[in-house]
Amino acid sequence: MTDTLVPVKPVRLIINGEAVDAASGKTFTTVNPATEAPICAVAEAGAEDVDRAVKAARAAFESGPWPKLRPAERQRILWRLGDLIVAHGDELARLETLDNGKPIAESKNADLPMVYGCFHYFSGWVTKLSGETVPVNPSLFTYTLREPIGVLGAITPWNFPMIMVAWKTAPALAAGNTVVLKPAFETPLTAVRIGELALEAGLPPGVLNIVPGRGTVAGEALVQHPMVDKISFTGSTEVGRHILRKSADTLKKLTLELGGKSPNIVFADADPEAALRGAASGIFYGKGEVCAAGSRLLVEKSIHAEFVAKLAERARKLVPGDPLDPKTRLGALISEKQMTSVLGYVEAGVKEGARLVAGGQRQPVNGKGWFVQATVLDGVDNRMKVAQEEIFGPVLAVIPFDDAEDAVRKANDIPFGLAAGVWTRDVKKAHAVARALKAGTVWVNTYNLYDPAMPFGGYKSSGFGRDLGAECLRDVTQVKSVWMNLE
Ligand code: NAD
Ligand code: MG
Repeated sequence: MTDTLVPVKPVRLIINGEAVDAASGKTFTTVNPATEAPICAVAEAGAEDVDRAVKAARAAFESGPWPKLRPAERQRILWRLGDLIVAHGDELARLETLDNGKPIAESKNADLPMVYGCFHYFSGWVTKLSGETVPVNPSLFTYTLREPIGVLGAITPWNFPMIMVAWKTAPALAAGNTVVLKPAFETPLTAVRIGELALEAGLPPGVLNIVPGRGTVAGEALVQHPMVDKISFTGSTEVGRHILRKSADTLKKLTLELGGKSPNIVFADADPEAALRGAASGIFYGKGEVCAAGSRLLVEKSIHAEFVAKLAERARKLVPGDPLDPKTRLGALISEKQMTSVLGYVEAGVKEGARLVAGGQRQPVNGKGWFVQATVLDGVDNRMKVAQEEIFGPVLAVIPFDDAEDAVRKANDIPFGLAAGVWTRDVKKAHAVARALKAGTVWVNTYNLYDPAMPFGGYKSSGFGRDLGAECLRDVTQVKSVWMNLE
């Protein structure tokens, strides 16, 4: 594999506008999942560094220029950051692929446009955020001010490292907050690079601080810090629950984007080719390490056998490859631990009576890497472990259903509610099922579409609060009611 062009210099923390080592001097090594080889050393933030970063963010919020800048000026800086991300697109896409193992085609053509798209989109909101005048009584002047919350702590996962930086920071900064971001331990590189580009774009010191480190150390320190006003977290439901409990002590506001086990429902009247493509990309895109992955495929019984046969054929053709090769469509899982866990689920599914019709094995590329084949388990019952738990890998559980009512019942019979897909040519059925599904996003005759303008987030145990869209601006601002007596 072509592992050149990697940063040789150790990557440092970004605190108060400067690249710094950890106070302890500690570093950790970030690894390329496709080669199992180290990429570079990264400064490892401890509680002391998080404290320094939070204090810098606090000072930037209380007495720095950022919240007081004219909105048009804040807008220009965020737009410029979007432009710098475009200009450094090849470098960022490559770093993302090296650190995460995802195909370069995905980093470059899907992730990158979302990243700069977010900064461009939310820069537009800076000049449009406003309160209202409210007609309470002619003897009063009553209005609301929409204000930033203060210091936001962002904690992000490893599956979409640079997209998560954009989702968490672009709206928060647009609204005038300052941010301390802790990227996932496994994938710190693009977050730090975007932090550097933000300084180049003119973001004042302390407005965006990046502190790579361990969840249990740097993450905990951020959640417990009394000067942090809000935590925005994307990650596992388990850690989300833990953060919710820990936030009680300092009464932090929270946005939680958690796991999913999203149903992708194929009716007999669907366009068969489109549904097949959507079923496959719904689970295999991003190696299935996608919170909204269509990991439960519900197929109407009358087409089930034929549909699954074709899907299995498609899965067998989707072979893992070098993530840096532009033709590769299936990359490496993030870690050996994740690979072992995913393969364990396949085994558990077969033990519970599911039929393995494609994949199911590790398949190294050039003798290395945590690659797993595109896997399809058929004949799954919705009560099985492989139907109820998030696997977070390229493993599809196929569940047959009788009719729309049965499909909706099975789709909703799960604690998660992040997303869902519906494939049908019947418009009435599409709308009825979209309404009946308990999920934060429903895709009809498509899957895995995202845009900075469309809100994203979970129902039920998939979390609360929203990223993206005008909707998420409520989550990064607070409203002040002002009553003025005119008598
Ligand atoms: P994770 O929950 O283990 O880690 C997420 C982040 O939390 C990381 O930065 C980690 O270091 C940090 N963390 C871990 N323990 C912590 C603690 N005690 N205190 C504070 N921070 C802590 O999840 P992961 O393995 O990195 O990511 C995979 C999970 O993320 C999957 O379950 C997936 O569904 C979910 N996810 C959800 C969305 C969404 O939008 N809903 C998006 C992407 C991923
Ligand atoms: Mg890595």
